[in-house]
Amino acid sequence: MKIFIDGKFYSERDAKVSVFDHGLLYGDGIFEGIRAYNGRVFKLKEHIDRLFCSAKAILLEIPMSHEKISEAVLETCRKNKLRDGYIRLVVTRGVGSLGLNPKSCKRPSVIIIAGSIQLYPPEFYAKGLTIITVPTARNLHSALNPAIKSLNYLNNILAKIEANNGGCEEAVMLNAEGYVAECTGDNLFIVKSGELFTPPLSAGALYGITRQTVIELAQEDGLKVSEPNLTRYDLFNADECFLTGTGAELIPVVKIDGRVIGNGKLGALTRKLVADYRALTKVSGEPIV
Ligand code: PMP
Repeated sequence: MKIFIDGKFYSERDAKVSVFDHGLLYGDGIFEGIRAYNGRVFKLKEHIDRLFCSAKAILLEIPMSHEKISEAVLETCRKNKLRDGYIRLVVTRGVGSLGLNPKSCKRPSVIIIAGSIQLYPPEFYAKGLTIITVPTARNLHSALNPAIKSLNYLNNILAKIEANNGGCEEAVMLNAEGYVAECTGDNLFIVKSGELFTPPLSAGALYGITRQTVIELAQEDGLKVSEPNLTRYDLFNADECFLTGTGAELIPVVKIDGRVIGNGKLGALTRKLVADYRALTKVSGEPIV
């Protein structure tokens, strides 16, 4: 595997960052998880746009233009002969002193890894996931805004550990008010009486690119989509539930906190949206060639 670091390609063995990088010392940095399908990078522009928004929010100046990053992502795919896979794009604050002040960091580092990912075992896509609500609440907007896709993922990791301890692969995270925010690495949707609902971004969720894609696909199918505050009650009484994320794609959920969702099987609308999403990934995206 060839890994891009600051304009050069390194073998897996030699792809290293300094122990003084504030990305490592403080989680000071940002990232994107991107997928390639069928020789095209899906939603590349949207991912790079979001990277720049995260950078702006943490006052990090990415040392490359939008176009140069886009080209570097495509070049990393080419160097690795990647046609289908998962791309991790990371920008760290860079090397600095041991104190947390980012002023000591001279130049951010850009890292691109083109590999693969499998978030959930295949049987869960066929049978649906069982998930639980966990005690760790999603970060407050006023503290560390969940819209920032930062390298500081401990909030999500703690929730993931709690899900694992409860025998589950994924967790529902509530915000401080008790409304549903999102899952540890995915946004959440429910279907009720033929309509689609997902928590508003203001509830404390990442501005998910798959979430947005699913909203557009559903609207094209003539479905009504709304974004009200949702409680656990709403999830328990949904007809269908599924999660969305670049890595996970669309994954059905059939049980939440011991309550069977709908009839406990994959719902018709979930199936339709999974098919729509698959079809879209096959034909759209930035060509790698
Ligand atoms: N929420 C969180 C916390 C995430 O980390 C992610 C990405 N893995 C998502 C939602 C889904 O976002 P996207 O569809 O843009 O991958």
